[in-house]
Amino acid sequence: MGYCHCESCRTWSAGPVNAFTLWQPDAVKITRGADNVGTFSKTARSNRKWCKTCGGHVFTEHPGWGVTDVYAAVIPNFPFKAGLHVNYQETKLRMKDGLPKMKDMPKEMGGSGITVEE
Ligand SMILES: [Zn+2]
Repeated sequence: MGYCHCESCRTWSAGPVNAFTLWQPDAVKITRGADNVGTFSKTARSNRKWCKTCGGHVFTEHPGWGVTDVYAAVIPNFPFKAGLHVNYQETKLRMKDGLPKMKDMPKEMGGSGITVEE
């Protein structure tokens, strides 16, 4: 769990950061209203899912990374606890919370693995 500061997330979420929770894809199942979930694939790395009734964002599949990001804000009463910030070089909202700030992404996800100042 953490916060993404990239421009793509900011534009999609219409917020200064995106609070993400990453799950194994098979741990996420739509139990009701699957017909009502739209998909937009900005790139091959992301399938953005949104609600056709209210237009709200639901989650994003990241097939290349083998994870599904369910936005923390859409999980009722979820005990969100961020562990890091990613893409902090693109930040528009500095968050001085003492958590690691990755310049881009962790090495294991194809990034530089470099951390930067808060
Ligand atoms: Zn992002």
